[in-house]
Amino acid sequence: MENLNIVPYLDIVPYPNSIRFFDSYTNLRAIDRRKSTNIISDEIVNPEAYRLQVKKDRFLITSGGEAGKFYAQQSLLQLVDSAKRNGGRIPLVEIVDEPAFEYRGFMIDSARHMIKVEDIKKLVDAAALLKLNVMHWHLTDDQGWRIEIESYPNLVRVGSVRNGSHFGHDHVDGEYSGYYTKAQLSEIVEYCAARHIRVIPEIDMPGHMIAAIASYPEVSCTGKQLEVESRQGIFPDILCAGKPETYQMIKSVLQEVMEIFPSQDIHIGGDEAPKKRWKECRHCQALIQRYRLNDEEELQGWFMNRIEEFLHENGRRAIVWNEALNSGLLNEGITVQMWMDRKKLSADFANTGGKVIISPFFHYYTDYPYGMTPLNKTYKFDPILRQINHDGADNVLGVEATVWTEHIRDFEKLSYMTYPRFAAVAETGWTFKANKDCEDFNRRLLTLLPMLKARGIEAADPRDWNPNLWRRLCETLGFYRKTLTKDMIFGYK
Ligand SMILES: [Zn+2]
Repeated sequence: MENLNIVPYLDIVPYPNSIRFFDSYTNLRAIDRRKSTNIISDEIVNPEAYRLQVKKDRFLITSGGEAGKFYAQQSLLQLVDSAKRNGGRIPLVEIVDEPAFEYRGFMIDSARHMIKVEDIKKLVDAAALLKLNVMHWHLTDDQGWRIEIESYPNLVRVGSVRNGSHFGHDHVDGEYSGYYTKAQLSEIVEYCAARHIRVIPEIDMPGHMIAAIASYPEVSCTGKQLEVESRQGIFPDILCAGKPETYQMIKSVLQEVMEIFPSQDIHIGGDEAPKKRWKECRHCQALIQRYRLNDEEELQGWFMNRIEEFLHENGRRAIVWNEALNSGLLNEGITVQMWMDRKKLSADFANTGGKVIISPFFHYYTDYPYGMTPLNKTYKFDPILRQINHDGADNVLGVEATVWTEHIRDFEKLSYMTYPRFAAVAETGWTFKANKDCEDFNRRLLTLLPMLKARGIEAADPRDWNPNLWRRLCETLGFYRKTLTKDMIFGYK
């Protein structure tokens, strides 16, 4: 898209990609809503693209589809809000805009700590304002199963309750429980759809499944009764890949997941799955023999592929975390979400035609304190990784910011940690690299804060966004002291 004349003072986040400025102003009082139009036109190809004109006496919006129409309105809302703070003065402009990436996501972890439905709606409202279009919902983990499944009732009866929360050196005694009913989940799906946000549910497997194993011990290798995990970390007990009971349960769960969530993409996890139990399990080893697999890593690839095929038969697609690439045998059509990838397998995957979503933990995980991940570090990250070549760049679907909630128990802290860093990822997702400007982004955020507040989001104080070196050191050390235990470093037995 042609970059006509970027003026550095339109208060819009994410920043529009093309702005023609007419060097003149009008006033909100002069705008006649009856003369204003908002139409969808075939001339604009991308359904997310739009053109917004501020004329002397009217606003004119043309868009490529319903989503583009919605995004034009979000830009206009911000322009009008800014004008109100300037006595109604609003510049005459023509904005021609479309996103840099088709996938612009945010992930919330409801497994470690639940987020109330009304609070999720606040996050969705803020995301909509920033033109994010995916809410990735991490609904199950070792520490809790949060999605009602009728065919396996113990998943919530047993799996949604844990005895205490002992995350790192953070200790809270007492029972912690909760789950979302199907009605609540559907309510969120509809709420998001009205704001052009699709909800991608995640059922993380074969690791991070202790809550499910505690509910149905027959799906693990040992069959031992476990308790829903109250500690943080990576645990050796995972789903048994060799027992039919596992596939029965997972298919049943996914069947119900697909009934609740219309999203074409379903996230099936695949991260942090230690192979200790599989090495000692006769069912898993028998499967390795039967299918002539080389090792347990390949068994994980085989497992993820079987689940993907089930989704595929039902017209859906699978997303997996990048560890699932370790096997080297993922089915075609699986999307990979990169979060920690020292071997750069995600880049190779993109270069050879695979679709990837970029969520580097060092830049996009907002559960880390600002001292570890300052706003500007999040903002400046380029999702087209150095190892990705020209063709591979087309396979980067987009970006996703995440928030993991082991150390986030209330919405106040969640708002503080996620905003404004979610906004930084939103701008990277929408605004072309050449149009991004970190300093101007920080300035524009100041004008966005009241709008976030009106949506129930208390963002971090601007003084906390980019701490100085001393504070960075203190916050980083403090974070490790709070979270790292011996078991987390050396592994649970
Ligand atoms: Zn097994």
